[in-house]
Amino acid sequence: MRRIRADWVWTPDGPLAGGEVVLDYDGRVTAVAARSGHEAEEVGGLLLPGLVNAHCHLELSDLRGKVPGGSGLSSWAQALVSRRRAPDAEAMRGAITEARDAGTAALVDVTNSGAPIPLMADADLRGSAQVEILGIEPDRCESARSGAARLLLAPGFPAVETCHAVVSCAADLLASVLAPPPEPGPARTFHCDEDAADTLLLRDRSGPWADFLDRLGRDWRDRIGHADSPVALLDALDVLGPHLALVHCVHTGPAELDRLAATDTAVVLCPRSNLHIGGALPDVPGMVARGLRLAIGTDSLASCPDLDVLADAAVLAAAFPDIDPGVWIAALTTGGASLLGPVRDGRVGGLCPGAEHGLLHVALPATTDPGRTLLDGTRWARRWLSCPLLP
Ligand SMILES: [Zn+2]
Repeated sequence: MRRIRADWVWTPDGPLAGGEVVLDYDGRVTAVAARSGHEAEEVGGLLLPGLVNAHCHLELSDLRGKVPGGSGLSSWAQALVSRRRAPDAEAMRGAITEARDAGTAALVDVTNSGAPIPLMADADLRGSAQVEILGIEPDRCESARSGAARLLLAPGFPAVETCHAVVSCAADLLASVLAPPPEPGPARTFHCDEDAADTLLLRDRSGPWADFLDRLGRDWRDRIGHADSPVALLDALDVLGPHLALVHCVHTGPAELDRLAATDTAVVLCPRSNLHIGGALPDVPGMVARGLRLAIGTDSLASCPDLDVLADAAVLAAAFPDIDPGVWIAALTTGGASLLGPVRDGRVGGLCPGAEHGLLHVALPATTDPGRTLLDGTRWARRWLSCPLLP
């Protein structure tokens, strides 16, 4: 048993000054309490549970700094496609180490190749592999689904099938793949409203995506969904719900946010990636005001400089200073953990008895406001006092 005392302990209910965390011999948390008279390891700073990076594409890890942004998603995606190579195992292993060193206990990783799945299993990460399907014409949808089914057989790591986006998937494919699953499992993540052009395609059959699909010679006009917005399409297909997490939502409007709140559909924020690709952030205050379940992801190294998800939370804290920093810490911990499996108790992923996401020490200086100090933009040194346990 270890008893560790810090200046601050971040619990699911907020920061606890001078708190203590007791670990059993496996590193599982057995107690979180106010300062006691017992002997303890004094570490100062802040204790956090291991963090959840809720959106990444490890297989793009060799593209760090190589895909210019700033002109919107369709030009970024075309630049990505022209640079994309077979997944580089060394780059992916390096990215996993980088994420773990930054305090990541669990990673929700989107893959088309399946190549990161055994590497995440080898690295003892928690999380899920999101085996992503794209398909517009029926024959392509069918071959994409059978390819995904083969990857889902890979043992050793939780994996689910999902779709890429409304602009790359036929409406009937979305309805089938994103429907609430019969058995509870990891949430399915889905790129949504990353660019305003998504709505132009669905609503008006125009814009950069229409030009792109026409250039590729795709037979999309009767296959891509028809709706006023991506969320309206998902709603009409009856696939919104707690099993789904929409990634980005940069251009999601008030009526659509209402539908996400009403259906307990989660949102994954990737602010650094959004700023790199399109130069805009989502209506985060609108999401917070509606009590949406939030998580945070870095996105891939093709649109984000590193896999330190705390740096994304710091961008949100700077952009929305009126929002309590506890919102971002909840998104990094309990919010992200809510996407990992069927147990959606609000305390899962937080520091409380039974917690298994590891114990992370952040070397904060003396502060009366640990949330704001943590997210002030400084890359605070951090180390694992106990590693995350395997599920
Ligand atoms: Zn993504």
